[in-house]
Amino acid sequence: MTEPIGRRELFRRGGKKITEAASQIAAAKTARRAEGWIRPPFALDELEFLVCCTRCDKCIEACPHDVLFALPTRAGRYATGTPAMDLSRRGCHLCADWPCVTACEPDALTLPAEKPDSSSSSPRLAIATIDQATCLPYSGPECGACASACPVPGALIWEGGVRPVIDQEHCTGCALCREACITDPKAIKISAILSEEKTVADA
Ligand code: SF4
Ligand code: SF4
Repeated sequence: MTEPIGRRELFRRGGKKITEAASQIAAAKTARRAEGWIRPPFALDELEFLVCCTRCDKCIEACPHDVLFALPTRAGRYATGTPAMDLSRRGCHLCADWPCVTACEPDALTLPAEKPDSSSSSPRLAIATIDQATCLPYSGPECGACASACPVPGALIWEGGVRPVIDQEHCTGCALCREACITDPKAIKISAILSEEKTVADA
């Protein structure tokens, strides 16, 4: 026969459940807020990242392509000063030696145990999509400005040899195609990965 649970144990278990629920809500809120920006390659999950990042700017200084910037105060008091990627302005070169990541002393950015090579196991940074209303070959004129910009095999396909199509299975969202695009506004749109999609992609 099982022993009845004492009041103290009941409170302890209840308290633990409340703490777990509260941290799940906090994590979900933090993840939703983070959909407004794109973290550097190999960033920890948002909540862990906020705890780990010392706002030292070393990753920003280490990036040779000037892709990273510190979030301004409007990002909120927890995220202010933490690094994000400005992929609307420049593309990430998925540097073979990941200088931004290796510059991070507290491992808020951290390579997987097996160091990836830049072409086959790059992290998914963002979502790139083609705006067919703006992309020239979709309305007639020839263009190949982005054709050779993509560093990831199979991510930018040239449909029928005339127009670009992005394969989301392979695309990392590095935005080098956007940088190469000659239209104004750019025909390649970059957006942050939503938390649900991140969960699917990470699964
Ligand atoms: S991988 Fe290279 S280009 Fe991309 S953010 Fe890091 S240092 Fe900059
Ligand atoms: S190097 Fe690491 S700790 Fe420093 S700002 Fe970048 S992510 Fe944060």
